[in-house]
Amino acid sequence: MANHLLGRPRDPEVRPHHSNGRRPEPAPGLSQAPPGDKVSDYFACNVFNLKTMRTLLPKETFRQIEEAILEGKRLSPEAANSVASAMKTWAISKGATHYTHWFQPMTGLTAEKHDSFIELNSDGSVLESFTGKQLAQAEPDASSFPSGGLRTTFEARGYTAWDPTSPAFIMETPGGATLCIPTVFVSYNGLSLDKKTPLLRSIEALNRAALDILAYFKVDARRVSSNMGAEQEYFLIDRSYFGRRTDLLMAGRTLLGAAPPKGQQLEDHYFGSIKERVFCFMTDAERELYKLGVPVKTRHNEVAPNQFEIAPIHEEANVAVDHNQLVMDIFERVAGRHGLAAVFHEKPFAGTNGSGKHINWSLGTDTGVNLLAPGETPSDNLRFLVFLVCAVKAVHDHGRLLRASVASSGNDHRLGANEAPPAIMSVFLGEYLTKVLSDIERGAPTKETDKEWLNLGIDKIPPVLRDNTDRNRTSPFAFTGNKFEFRAVGSSSNCAFPLTIINAIVAGALRQMKKDIDGGLKTKKPFKDAVLEVLRKYVKESKRVCYEGNNYSGDWEKEAAKRGLPNVKTTPEALEGLILKESFALLDSTKILKPEEARSRYHIELERYAKDIDIEAKLLVEMVESQVLPAAFSYQKELGLSIQALKAVLPKHPSLRSQESLLDEVAGHVGAIREGVGRLRKAMADAEKETEPLKKAQAYCHQVKPRFSMVRRSADALEELAPDKDWPLPKYHEMLFLI
Ligand code: ADP
Ligand code: MG
Repeated sequence: MANHLLGRPRDPEVRPHHSNGRRPEPAPGLSQAPPGDKVSDYFACNVFNLKTMRTLLPKETFRQIEEAILEGKRLSPEAANSVASAMKTWAISKGATHYTHWFQPMTGLTAEKHDSFIELNSDGSVLESFTGKQLAQAEPDASSFPSGGLRTTFEARGYTAWDPTSPAFIMETPGGATLCIPTVFVSYNGLSLDKKTPLLRSIEALNRAALDILAYFKVDARRVSSNMGAEQEYFLIDRSYFGRRTDLLMAGRTLLGAAPPKGQQLEDHYFGSIKERVFCFMTDAERELYKLGVPVKTRHNEVAPNQFEIAPIHEEANVAVDHNQLVMDIFERVAGRHGLAAVFHEKPFAGTNGSGKHINWSLGTDTGVNLLAPGETPSDNLRFLVFLVCAVKAVHDHGRLLRASVASSGNDHRLGANEAPPAIMSVFLGEYLTKVLSDIERGAPTKETDKEWLNLGIDKIPPVLRDNTDRNRTSPFAFTGNKFEFRAVGSSSNCAFPLTIINAIVAGALRQMKKDIDGGLKTKKPFKDAVLEVLRKYVKESKRVCYEGNNYSGDWEKEAAKRGLPNVKTTPEALEGLILKESFALLDSTKILKPEEARSRYHIELERYAKDIDIEAKLLVEMVESQVLPAAFSYQKELGLSIQALKAVLPKHPSLRSQESLLDEVAGHVGAIREGVGRLRKAMADAEKETEPLKKAQAYCHQVKPRFSMVRRSADALEELAPDKDWPLPKYHEMLFLI
């Protein structure tokens, strides 16, 4: 195969390529922060966290802010002023000139509008100022964000409100630094317009529900938090290729591209040695993340070529969500410095593994007890089983809501196909716990004897199950010893919503559990019997959602259908999970989303889906018409001329027939593309006419999107036939193998 790097219009541009393996100099304007290389010396140096505040705030203010963070108490206006003043001085000392309320609107991305600290004096000079009021609240004119009907531009008030539970930080760029203050974004009447408000509400709902259960077990705890560690997959692509692929640039995925002769079949990339250029990018990005207090821990090559993963140490859910957003943001910025592009789409390359984000989730007390870890005593284990069974019941009762929480046009490529945990929401528990639950289901302990406890296996649950479980990698919701791993989340998605829904459905199950145990206790049953009776009932009702086999297999699809488990492969239908009667009831009763808030999300996501596919369709048409077809015409002409020349000189040459048939093949593909584009355009026009949001999304899903394949098939065939030197687009093997 020709060497595409030489003498080609699409040669990588001159770029900072740190192939000497040394760390690049920090970009100008970035703090030379890391003195030496010891992470602990500079970790979180750009974060206004409790540790920083303890040294900078007056004692009384610090006490108040600590209570606000740890217990949700309100700050007095004086304390807010005092915090703002210290924050400003600190930020300016770090080079910040501006501050911003950093929020996460329904686009799923982060949003920021910068204001400088300056105020004008009467003599024309300026001074830097920042008040408690400015810290606490702002009213950005953010009327263009999706609100799903919760606000219209003429009543456009949306407020950002400071969330002290996620610390402010300094975002450095080569051009300067900005103080970012994490906020929630709500409408004038308090309805959530963002991803964070429901998350915070779900954290609270789960806290209350879990504390109520813990009261039975006399566990010493004042707070239960949900914790998350998000394993993030991504691709790195040379930026010069990336820039020439309009599809990657605008839609995040390739809509065209023939499969390279070598893909991932050799599996030689997974855990392979990390190339120098990639390594330089990773260490550079990690250094920026450490400055921001993001505890990234693990890095490795993933299965597909040029695919990688990064995972942090898990943290409290709210902070962990912000940190995952920062990981994606920093990766995009730092990749640019290295002449690379970080790609987070769920399926950037057909025929090659897509990317996901595994959300590892657990709940733990402020006293350090992981409630999803088996304990030392039968009582600890009974408590463990209560939380475990509630998680199973949660997925069983609200599988469609959980599925809706990860629905997106990108994720359909994974969940609807055979590579990621499928669209069927099921739970993996491992052999040991499966047996324990089936013992519970069968056992009928009426008397509290040791023997019966033994029979139920409760007193002998091994504390470290991780090594005992066979770590089923295909299950969407897998228990891994002391946490659940939710693997159905898309790599580009904001984890806040899936996390909100996990918290919500588990909180719902715990609340029901409390009611049912109380019911049993009223009939004077001994406590353990009352609990076991409820557990038995829940296991019976929910066990059909448990599956230990290979989730990718066709057998499971059949089996799941028999069990009556939903298998919703496409987004428009999956989103319905948000507006089911039981979803409204759960989200409303736990005070996480009012029905109108849930409905607004449904509409936003439907609209988003339609727009995604519309953009892809337009891109595909543009690319084939302006790039693929012109290349095909040149080749067709070249072939035609060449055949004519051969005919003139050697009219009876035996290869003439086969050369003509090549020309016929090329012309056939050109014809198929023209026809395919015609059909696609027609489907797009029909979809555009739909006014009802669900019907519109469905038209894009079931009429427009399937029309891509005819166009693509012929375009990819032409890519393989036409002269390599004239092909206008970077090819798969370049994007996937060159770095
Ligand atoms: P693997 O790829 O083997 O699943 P990784 O080490 O890549 O594991 O990632 C595991 C993730 O799970 C990390 O982010 C880790 O911090 C997180 N994690 C570990 N324990 C818990 C827990 N108790 N709660 C939430 N997340 C956890
Ligand atoms: Mg991992």
